[in-house]
Amino acid sequence: MGRDGSAVEIPESATAPVGYERLDGDVPVLHPPRLSERAREVQGRLTQGYGALAEILAVEPPELRAMLIAAEDWNRAPRENEHPYPPGLPYFTRSTHPPTLVLPETLSPAFRPRTEATLPLTVWHELAHAFLLQREVVRTPAWLREFVPQAAAAAVARRVGLPLEDHLSRAEDAGFTIRGFEELASAGDQMSFQNLLLRLGAAALEEFGEGFLKRLFRALWEEDRIVDEERAEELLAGALGSGGRRWLESRPEFQGENMRNTISKNGQGAEIS
Ligand SMILES: [Zn+2]
Repeated sequence: MGRDGSAVEIPESATAPVGYERLDGDVPVLHPPRLSERAREVQGRLTQGYGALAEILAVEPPELRAMLIAAEDWNRAPRENEHPYPPGLPYFTRSTHPPTLVLPETLSPAFRPRTEATLPLTVWHELAHAFLLQREVVRTPAWLREFVPQAAAAAVARRVGLPLEDHLSRAEDAGFTIRGFEELASAGDQMSFQNLLLRLGAAALEEFGEGFLKRLFRALWEEDRIVDEERAEELLAGALGSGGRRWLESRPEFQGENMRNTISKNGQGAEIS
C-alpha cells in the first residue's frame, strides 16, 4: 500500500482506540496504559516469533504491528467487517497499514488447554498467518489453512525451549480427524481441531525437522488455483519430503474418511482462526 502513491495511508492514531500507548519494537504494540505489563509480555513473545519465523522460512519479515485491546474497546478494534468479531478471539487483519495482529485483553475461555504455552502459541499462530499473507494465497481446505500457523507456532516453541508435551497432553480427545472438521462447528470443536493440528505439526517437526515449513510456505505462494482436498494432501506430503505421504497417512490426526456429517453444525459461528 502507498508504494505507487495511489493509496492513502491511514495514520495509526485513526485506527487504535483513543488513549492507547505505543511500545516500540520489531512489532510495535499499541495498548491501553493499564495493560502495559501484559503488552510487554506479548511483545516479548512477538519478538521471539518474529525472529524465529524469519529464519525458519528464510524470508524478510512483514511490516506489522499488534494491538492489545481492552475488553471495553473490543468493538473499536480494526477489522475487515462492519460488525465486531466475537470477543476474546485474536485475529490478523489487513484492513490497516501496516497490517495488525489484534489480541484481546483476555483470551476467550474457548482457548484450551490453559497452560503457560497457551498465550505464546496463540501469538505465534497469528504471527504465522501474517507471514504467510505477505503474499496472496489461494483458498485451501480449512485443515491446511490452519495447519500452517499451528505447525509454525510449534516450531517457534521448539526453538525457544517451550515444551509442548505437557500442553498437548492436556488437550481433550476430539472424536474426529482434521479432515472431518466442519467449519461451522462449535467453539469447543474448533479448539479440538486446532489442537489436532498442533499435535500433527509438533509430530511433523519431530520426524522431518523444521525445513518442511519453508517448503510448504513456498508451495502455497506458488499455487494459483483453489486447492482441493487431494491437492492439499499432495502439497503437504511433498513439503514433508521423502516418506511424507506414508507418514501422513499413518497419523491418527489425519486418518480415516472424511466424517463431515458427524460433526455438529450448531455452533455459534465464533471462529477460532
Ligand atoms: Zn488461524
